[in-house]
Amino acid sequence: MATIFTKIINGELPAYKVAETDDYLAFLDINPNAKGHTLCIPKEEENKIFDLDEETYLGLMKFSRNVAKAIEKVVPCQRIGMSVIGLEVPHVHVHLIPLRTMEDARFTSKDKLSDSEFRELANAISEAYKG
Ligand code: 5GP
Repeated sequence: MATIFTKIINGELPAYKVAETDDYLAFLDINPNAKGHTLCIPKEEENKIFDLDEETYLGLMKFSRNVAKAIEKVVPCQRIGMSVIGLEVPHVHVHLIPLRTMEDARFTSKDKLSDSEFRELANAISEAYKG
């Protein structure tokens, strides 16, 4: 059965997309640790990151770096943190999280954004990514 992230890739579920290539997609996390929390995924459906073939893994890291630089241009923060967990969604994803304090890296306190805030943020990151 397709993962929810494959459904997002296929347009069967909505997402606030920020960047896309032939092989990768980035979109805002729906329950963000902090404003700008973004998920970068390979379109290939794989459960665990270290099971990716080397080319796809390295491509994901390169894509994530480009997306992180775009987020950093838009969201005030000390730096962009990166986590890989995958205990909830069995489709490889890199969490990119704008960090202001250690709390933002803990996946315990969550930020609430309205639909328009999500949309504006996704547009701004997307523009920074293209620029
Ligand atoms: P993990 O699998 O790394 O533990 O966490 C999965 C992440 O995906 C969580 O941060 C969660 O908020 C996010 N997530 C789960 N379902 C959806 C969804 O349908 N859309 C989006 N944009 N994010 C999701």
